[in-house]
Amino acid sequence: MKKFISEVVSTGTEIMQGVYPDTNAREISHRLQKLGILPLYHTAVGDDKKTLLDILGIARNRTDVIIMTGGLGPTVDDLTRDVVSELYGKPLVPDRKAADMIRARFAARRKHMPESNLTQALLPAGSIPLYNENGTAPGFIIYEETLHKALIALPGPPREWIPMFDNFVADFLKTHFPSSAIIDTLVLRTIDIPESQLNEQLKPLFNTLPGVTFAFTFRPGKVDIRLTASAPSSEETCQLLEDARKKILRLIDPECIYGEGDEATIEAEVGRLLTARKKTLAIAESCTGGLLCKRLTDIPGSSNYLKEGIVAYSDEAKVKYLGVRDETLRHYGAVSGETVAEMATGMKRVSGADIAVGITGIAGPSGGSQEKPVGLVYFGLATEDSIITCQRRFTGERCLIRELAADFALDMLRRTLISSTDEPDMR
Ligand code: ATP
Repeated sequence: MKKFISEVVSTGTEIMQGVYPDTNAREISHRLQKLGILPLYHTAVGDDKKTLLDILGIARNRTDVIIMTGGLGPTVDDLTRDVVSELYGKPLVPDRKAADMIRARFAARRKHMPESNLTQALLPAGSIPLYNENGTAPGFIIYEETLHKALIALPGPPREWIPMFDNFVADFLKTHFPSSAIIDTLVLRTIDIPESQLNEQLKPLFNTLPGVTFAFTFRPGKVDIRLTASAPSSEETCQLLEDARKKILRLIDPECIYGEGDEATIEAEVGRLLTARKKTLAIAESCTGGLLCKRLTDIPGSSNYLKEGIVAYSDEAKVKYLGVRDETLRHYGAVSGETVAEMATGMKRVSGADIAVGITGIAGPSGGSQEKPVGLVYFGLATEDSIITCQRRFTGERCLIRELAADFALDMLRRTLISSTDEPDMR
């Protein structure tokens, strides 16, 4: 069976100027891969008619499927419809349903519709319309049956094109460009284990899993293990990934994995564990200035387990709100194991939460000393029956140190919650 290749063409001068990153190309490529269509080229083009004509001409010659995003709006810099119409020799004709949908959208919002909006309902003759439930611009597909090629034009905003792709384009591609191989990926997100160690531990698996390739993606303090599998059917691809996953878990400490998939976060995992264990949490922060609370409250439903957070930045605040003793601060300093222990226990006491976390450290760039350098952070975790403290030295700029400190505190919580029950963790 033929392997089909594709080109993603993102349009818009803002992309060329770096105003926003071309995330559409990434998202579309993931989807094409899953369908077994190879995304061989990513091209970005500014709003210039001649360049767009040239690029689409090249793309049409060298690939089977072109997926374009953007340039379907009603303004003069929106060129996609005109350029495609010219290149494919298909005049623009009004699509009644698209026009009605645009009118209805304005009416529902009680807004006057500028006539120019109806230019969006003009589609190349003979194209397949892709109606837009989340915006005004419809997309379209031009399918050249004799050449067995397609051009798919989608709007720029992800909330508009993603449903169009997932609900319609994917089926069109499966039907007209069926693949001999379904490709899928599994991402295992790890923390607190160096890339080199992961590489060593997983070496026995490299080249021993036919149809599966390994890649490591490094971010400060974290490494993603990215497995890509390819097989004739999605069931077989899933099975390959599941077998690889099991083998990996036998070779590395499974506790290092905090989640699966590109969207997984430690804060979401902490939230899941707190909910499963029916525990509440309170946070006392100094050097992270509320970052830990912010990340925890990014998770919908966090009010079910997060009781409160205090940013006790000054010594006085540590005394006033958390009951840290003057003597402790005088004797050991604000950045010390003793102070962080009192911050965590004080937070637990005043909040009544089951677990409290304290963080104090030196985020820099100034304020460090030989004894207590920039990047030194102390962590305290108070539970019903214990108080654990530990320290870490992070390197990097102020904002990275704070981010790494928040990561570490979340991970400390995650590991404590995992080991706080005898029941198996049902992830
Ligand atoms: P509209 O009808 O909203 O004008 P459009 O199809 O003309 O849509 P553009 O005007 O090119 O699309 O882009 C609209 C918005 O979509 C951009 O401001 C941006 O937020 C998003 N967008 C466009 N292209 C991309 C891309 N390649 N990657 C990520 N986001 C994009």
